[in-house]
Amino acid sequence: MPKAQTIAAVDIGGTKIAVGIIGANGKVLSKLQCPTDADQGYAKALDRIVKMIRELTAAPGHGVDGIGIGSTGPVYPLTGEIGDVNFLPGWEGENPVRDLERVFRVPVAIENDADAAALAEAGWGAGKNKQRLLYVTVGTGIGGGIILDGRIYRGVDHAHPELGHHLIDPSGPQCLCGFPGCWESLAAGPAMVNWVEANSSSDYPHRANLNAKRICELAREGDALALRAVQRETRYLGLGLANLVTLFAPDAIVLGGSVMKSASLFLEGIRGIVRESCRFVPFEKTEITLASLGEDANLIGAARVWHHRFTSGGEHAS
Ligand SMILES: [Zn+2]
Repeated sequence: MPKAQTIAAVDIGGTKIAVGIIGANGKVLSKLQCPTDADQGYAKALDRIVKMIRELTAAPGHGVDGIGIGSTGPVYPLTGEIGDVNFLPGWEGENPVRDLERVFRVPVAIENDADAAALAEAGWGAGKNKQRLLYVTVGTGIGGGIILDGRIYRGVDHAHPELGHHLIDPSGPQCLCGFPGCWESLAAGPAMVNWVEANSSSDYPHRANLNAKRICELAREGDALALRAVQRETRYLGLGLANLVTLFAPDAIVLGGSVMKSASLFLEGIRGIVRESCRFVPFEKTEITLASLGEDANLIGAARVWHHRFTSGGEHAS
């Protein structure tokens, strides 16, 4: 079994691909990125990934022991294939694990990027030493990963559970998942924008270029409508997290994603809702905390994917 381990990490997102070299302690030693340009096809993206890894490992003594990939999903972690991914049209069935193994002749592993970030926070971040950890990312969508005893919880057929798509309010907007009023449809960044647009008059001065970050800034400046939007967001974030606390009674829930950069507006309210709603479980023992790995969480997570697969017990298709 390999040990020691400098890993090349590949983070495949809808808009950009980042590649980094990650040391054994989770430190990013060097990194590069390029646009995904998904429409130009998988083969060209693979070429760019190979070139970036070669550039980062060109100097003598800069070889890597393996390659870990975190990708926008769905992906099939144990075969290495990319599934039917919205942001990667035409890439379904392609297999970056097989292709990178062929080029670099080192072990390669892939996971959904939310599971990758969850592994990173569990191994090297805010969830360190937590036995039962949920990682939740709130941005343009809501996703997450479940880590039990350091291992990714997988569903049937190795499926990735969708923490962002449980029902909150059946009178809410229809989501592609099938539910009307699932958590993502009500509490992801775009839901904040949609609500402000629907509830502002045509002369509301901030209608142009609204996004969740801007709404949070306006709330801090005292804008009445933005404050109501933040209240609504707090309520829906709190209800979703309270459901997770009740269903899983985890040691910790680690919150990441772009909306959580404004977490100070929401956290106190969220904790209040959990207190009111989770009386059948020891909610006060569930730590609700912020992700600690920052901008590089997905890249660090991709390296952690390799460690998760090939060290500490390993995991095999069977
Ligand atoms: Zn949904």
